[in-house]
Amino acid sequence: MKKSGTAIVVKHTGSHYLLSELPAWEPFAAVIRGKVRLAGSHATNPVAVGDRVDYHLESDDPEGMAVIDKIYPRSNYIIRRSVNLSRESHIIAANLDRVFLVVTIAFPEVKRAFVDRFLVTCEAYRIPVTLVVNKTDIRTEALEAETADFVALYRAAGYEVLEVSARTGEGVSQLKERCRGAVSLISGISGVGKSSLINAMDPSLSLRTGEISLSHLQGKHTTTFYEMHPLASGGFIIDTPGIRGFGLVDIQPEELSTYFPEMLRVMDDCRFKPCTHTHEPGCAVKQAVDDGRIAPERYNSYLGMLEEETKYR
Ligand code: GDP
Ligand code: ZN
Repeated sequence: MKKSGTAIVVKHTGSHYLLSELPAWEPFAAVIRGKVRLAGSHATNPVAVGDRVDYHLESDDPEGMAVIDKIYPRSNYIIRRSVNLSRESHIIAANLDRVFLVVTIAFPEVKRAFVDRFLVTCEAYRIPVTLVVNKTDIRTEALEAETADFVALYRAAGYEVLEVSARTGEGVSQLKERCRGAVSLISGISGVGKSSLINAMDPSLSLRTGEISLSHLQGKHTTTFYEMHPLASGGFIIDTPGIRGFGLVDIQPEELSTYFPEMLRVMDDCRFKPCTHTHEPGCAVKQAVDDGRIAPERYNSYLGMLEEETKYR
């Protein structure tokens, strides 16, 4: 093993981290000592999976842990508010090339409000996001119609939407293609098939599936840990166990609409600037909703989020 180097954090276990000099996959243990912290960060965790760090080995002991000396600035990160509405936040992952949000139309039903909130977070942190509709092998007439609506709604908003089935393998090659040469995060509520999809992409990873989400069993002060997996077909994927949702951290009400791509496209034409797109005359966003160019579902999501953000300020 080398005496020092630069590596990526691939796992956080609570007591220590695992690092690997990607794209090589040779994880080794490391600790943080003292106050290594990225300037300006108020997160409860100083280092997250995906962080790029400098490390050194203190002794010649090959079993000894590496020590993390420095954290490089992040190109982006995903954050979650720690508990309740405290100011504390927890960084889930950093330096992501893409986020896959796995959803199911039924079994379980993923709420649109959750999807929209998640997409806003990705936009705010400038992380490309792909929606992955899983379990397309479950077919009923009603479900097929709802799936078609969902796909059309989010494609019209400007998002890439893939239809896949971890069970039959439909669409899995498209997923693998998007993972190549990149670090991606896979997210979504419990039961949508995240672990199954990772296994479908690379059966050698054999992640456990179908388990009760940890988040239901956990107390408020325990942490869930995030882990990066190497994919045999190329690229690295970060699994997010038991995620309930990401908080909207530090988003100003007046910038919220810029995180809805279909609103961003038209808001230049609003008469008033800034425009909240709620009551102002000559609002191009409201006009687009009336014309059917912006889906009312998405506009209502925006209004709901705007109200919440304003309330908690
Ligand atoms: P996770 O909580 O998001 O990681 O979801 P899991 O991968 O554990 O899957 C939850 C349940 O959905 C398990 O019982 C899986 O067998 C099932 N499942 C996952 N993908 C599919 C799929 O494409 N089709 C069907 N019918 N079931 C699936
Ligand atoms: Zn407006």
